Amino acid sequence: MDDFAGLVAIVTGGASGIGLATANLLSNRGAQVAALDLKLKGLPDSVMGVQTDVSNDDQVKAAVDAVVERFGRLDVVVNNAGIGAVGDVTVNSDDQWARVLDVNVLGMVRVARHSIPHLRRSPAASIVNTSSIVAWAGVEQRVLYSASKGAVYALTLAMAADHVREGIRVNCVAPGSADTPWIDRSLEQAADPVAARAALDAFQPTGRLVSADEVAGAIAYLASPLSSASVGTVLAVDNGMHSLRLRPPDRV
Ligand code: NAD
Repeated sequence: MDDFAGLVAIVTGGASGIGLATANLLSNRGAQVAALDLKLKGLPDSVMGVQTDVSNDDQVKAAVDAVVERFGRLDVVVNNAGIGAVGDVTVNSDDQWARVLDVNVLGMVRVARHSIPHLRRSPAASIVNTSSIVAWAGVEQRVLYSASKGAVYALTLAMAADHVREGIRVNCVAPGSADTPWIDRSLEQAADPVAARAALDAFQPTGRLVSADEVAGAIAYLASPLSSASVGTVLAVDNGMHSLRLRPPDRV
């Protein structure tokens, strides 16, 4: 497919996991792609790397300007950079709350703020935010992270309403547990990481984690000019985890 031919895309958190898979996929489908990330190690030559902390407004503005200066336009923004947090509501400090919301929510706001003036000039403008299954399903010990991703869900809908009439489509994906370095880091905390991974796989309706490429495919679907009627959509990429109620195997 070359549905992104002639288009320019920014992917935040584009040097790892879901972001890297998305940067590669958009590039393979014809886009000029820039990855905005804290560290750029591992990026292919086909992707422009711009070292950026999305919690720093000056850095975000400079990065967006650099991409537009290099490629002359901006059409697609994938707001994907994010960090995690563990604990119930009694656990995380105010500083942790401020940090996670700053990266996961305000980070997307900053990138959108500086990108929208350029997107307004695109004939195929699209923003895709990475939310999570935890935005719409209660998951234990993830209260801060869930609140941040719930905010991304609401942000997506409000942005979609604000910008649809000027031709900018805004959507989000809601991945379930996805096989990325993020999950590897989380499993490393377990007493038995191999057993924890097997339990996480078994917890999925499909018996396996979502792959980064599968999330990238969903992001590309929403970002593509071929999906021009998809606006304010939340696309689950979660092995059915949110919507299905499977009976135990021994029940009829
Ligand atoms: P990852 O850790 O592999 O990649 C995240 C990337 O974001 C890293 O390259 C990191 O350097 C970058 N990043 C972090 N803070 C940043 C900052 N302040 N500025 C710029 N870049 C920053 O993780 P992933 O699994 O690919 O996660 C990507 C997104 O998907 C995140 O928003 C995450 O919340 C979301 N998500 C992940 C899962 C999962 O199970 N892996 C599930 C649902 C949603």
